[in-house]
Amino acid sequence: MTGTVYKSTGSWYTVKAEDGRWFECRIKGKFRIKGIKSTNPVAVGDVVDFDLDTKSDVETGVITNIHPRENYIVRKSVNLSKQTHIIASNVDTVFLLVTLNNPPTFTAFIDRFLVTAEAYHIKAVLLFNKIDTYNEEEILEIRYLAAIYREIGYECVGISAITGKNVDTVKEMMEGKTCMFTGHSGVGKSTLVNAIEPTLDLKTKQISVQHSQGQHTTTFAEMFDLGFDARIIDTPGIKGFGIVDMEREEIGDYFPEFFALKSECKFNNCLHLEEPKCAVKAALDNDEIPWSRYKSYTQMLAGDDDQHYRKDIYP
Ligand code: GDP
Ligand code: ZN
Repeated sequence: MTGTVYKSTGSWYTVKAEDGRWFECRIKGKFRIKGIKSTNPVAVGDVVDFDLDTKSDVETGVITNIHPRENYIVRKSVNLSKQTHIIASNVDTVFLLVTLNNPPTFTAFIDRFLVTAEAYHIKAVLLFNKIDTYNEEEILEIRYLAAIYREIGYECVGISAITGKNVDTVKEMMEGKTCMFTGHSGVGKSTLVNAIEPTLDLKTKQISVQHSQGQHTTTFAEMFDLGFDARIIDTPGIKGFGIVDMEREEIGDYFPEFFALKSECKFNNCLHLEEPKCAVKAALDNDEIPWSRYKSYTQMLAGDDDQHYRKDIYP
């Protein structure tokens, strides 16, 4: 049988078969996927083949095969620094919630998120939340930001999770897809998910309470079906949107507007810094590329703005 993994506890995997039935599955022996060194062989979102246990009278099975992943997001394993833990796979769309204040979301953070999504090959959408709270000046700032990111090709929607403004638009964007919501604590992720599906109680909140009591909990991602054709992957206790180890030369390729100009740079390995005849620098001088994007890029290149990026990428 074939199904999708909705939950993993480390040794058991909850699998929803194509016919809608649920099974608890295990894996037998060593599962290794070429090119991926991870502490968990099977992840939430994986499409798997499995055999039913004949001896058991409960619905259990053994996973025999994992279908190739469209993408997967990872975090570094706590125990084995060289190995990674796959948080989730086959994610269609990740929504970043952005607020101007309470809490502030800086462009450096947005850009780092977008680079990560590009590197993962996951579609990213920006949701500017709490628009019910903004004054005229702040609305203009949101419009300015949204214009920057739309120009690059990212969809942007101004929403209010509280009043419900444009929540239907978000639902339309989720139709038929497996989605994740991310953003700083306090931007309104739980409120939005609640507006989308009032009966769905994501665990994010409970986990943070446990953490504040100093309890160490191992947390696992879990996928949920919504009342319409869409799925949400909840990643309790996991901050941010995974990590990507990338080479210095790669970073610019994940800024789509830089990548589009790269072939016009004099050097094909141009880092768009001090090289002569750099098309990106020229576009920057002509105000065709916003300074905030270029600044985020140079910060990422220097590796000094985020511990998630390798410290040693700058000579
Ligand atoms: P999370 O940490 O990202 O899950 O954020 P929450 O959903 O817990 O929201 C944090 C706070 O922001 C709560 O007090 C929410 O009521 C509030 N909030 C969330 N969305 C909105 C919104 O669209 N407008 C307003 N005014 N408040 C919001
Ligand atoms: Zn260049």
